[in-house]
Amino acid sequence: MGTSDEATSKLHIFFFPYMAHGHMIPTLDMAKLFATKGAKSTILTTPLNSKLFEKPIKSFNQENPELEDIKIQILNFPCTELGLPEGCENTDFIFSNHDLTKGNLNMKFLLAMEYFKDQLEELLETVKPDCFVANMFFPWATKVAEKFNVPRLVFHGTGYFSLCASHCLRLHKPYKNVASSSEPFVIPELPGDVVITEEQVIEKEEESVMGKFMKEIRDSERDSFGVLMNSFYDLEPAYADFFKSHVAKRAWDIGPLSLGNREFKEKAERGKKASIDEHECLKWLDSKRCESVIYLSFGTMSSFDDEQLIEIAAGLELSGHDFVWVVNRSSSQGEKVEWLPEGFEERTKGQGLIICGWAPQVLILDHQAIGGFLTHCGWNSLLEGAASGLPMVTWPIGAEQFYNEKLVTQVLKTGVSVGVEKMVKGSGDFISREKVEIAVREVMVGEERRKRAKQLAVMAKDAVREGGSSDVEVKRLMDELKLVRLQKEQETRT
Ligand code: UDP
Repeated sequence: MGTSDEATSKLHIFFFPYMAHGHMIPTLDMAKLFATKGAKSTILTTPLNSKLFEKPIKSFNQENPELEDIKIQILNFPCTELGLPEGCENTDFIFSNHDLTKGNLNMKFLLAMEYFKDQLEELLETVKPDCFVANMFFPWATKVAEKFNVPRLVFHGTGYFSLCASHCLRLHKPYKNVASSSEPFVIPELPGDVVITEEQVIEKEEESVMGKFMKEIRDSERDSFGVLMNSFYDLEPAYADFFKSHVAKRAWDIGPLSLGNREFKEKAERGKKASIDEHECLKWLDSKRCESVIYLSFGTMSSFDDEQLIEIAAGLELSGHDFVWVVNRSSSQGEKVEWLPEGFEERTKGQGLIICGWAPQVLILDHQAIGGFLTHCGWNSLLEGAASGLPMVTWPIGAEQFYNEKLVTQVLKTGVSVGVEKMVKGSGDFISREKVEIAVREVMVGEERRKRAKQLAVMAKDAVREGGSSDVEVKRLMDELKLVRLQKEQETRT
């Protein structure tokens, strides 16, 4: 086959991420993965978000001259015309502006996504990609793709367990039969006898705007070509099987996507520009004993009030463990962090590193000095922690994070809960310093838990290796997409 034939025979995949770091980061990883396997990857996004992709894509293209360049296709998104503040092109804008009414703006932002429809139709018609991977938050994408005979894949950004738990809760509504909202019950039908309380369930408000939107998402998933999962089979086999037999007709587990980033630069360039010099950060960790440091991060959308931050600080101090703590607040370098307890910085000098803003998370998690991860249970973080073999302290705040917590504490048994009982709009349930101290101590010393966590890391790496379960799934999907293209070509010829 000649070179030009090879070029035309490459699959061309469109990736359209929801504009939030928790979705854009794994989507870029996905685009890189498919490019590595020989596809042409194009990421569709808005002008401001394209800036976040440019640097890592440039590095990837430079370092892989034998592969097809990953491209960015910019979409127009006129914020003010859509009733959004100027510059509101991603959820970062919403969650870092504390004076805005986050809940309403977040919903408005979500619904504004429909604006992309016309641009997408035009692109699918003219470029004719072989596949359209569109985020779950674009339910209209299935119909748009269908119009141009392009297979649409859904990317949720979460794992099998939470999708299965959500399915069973919606179907059986077990929370209607409990005496109180804090009474634990077993999720019916879901493998593993997983226990939860009504206060932690998000499926209750089916008649709300969000509830109706979630139904649209499920319908569009049902009519799509299938679902792409950032997970690996051995992490949650019972739930991968349950999902494929009870929830969606087809799914491919191709993760952990973060493991595609192997070099220092790739890890350092993931997401936003770090608020700390990466080398300084690693140097600090180099000075620590193996598995002696706990890393704390609450993802990109959670923020705590001063009172809660003080409790976390005090809990860390009481635990006596070294720590790296990412605080979702900006602070100019050298400036005193005013919300910390009196004298905290002096007393914990050398014991802790506080990063205000963005941390190079996967670089840190992979460092041998890290021995535990206190996480809000966002799926990316959870998977990154698992891929680094870390036992976890779970501190869910909202969305499906309570379900993810149950996977860690009840199924995988690689984590302990800090004790969050319920979702509270805004910043979550208040947790005392004693609870922080106990959970941190427990997770840093539990040997059996650590052993299990390390086994998961081995399995995660095996999954993405040549011939591993995720590697096989990617190839299986690509073969299937090639077949679809062949069929389409035959149809147009006859
Ligand atoms: N992340 C990071 N540095 C930070 C905060 C977050 O690199 O300071 C990355 C993290 O590694 C993960 C993503 O941002 O890949 C957050 O996704 P997750 O699903 O964990 O949480 P979300 O922010 O969506 O709630």
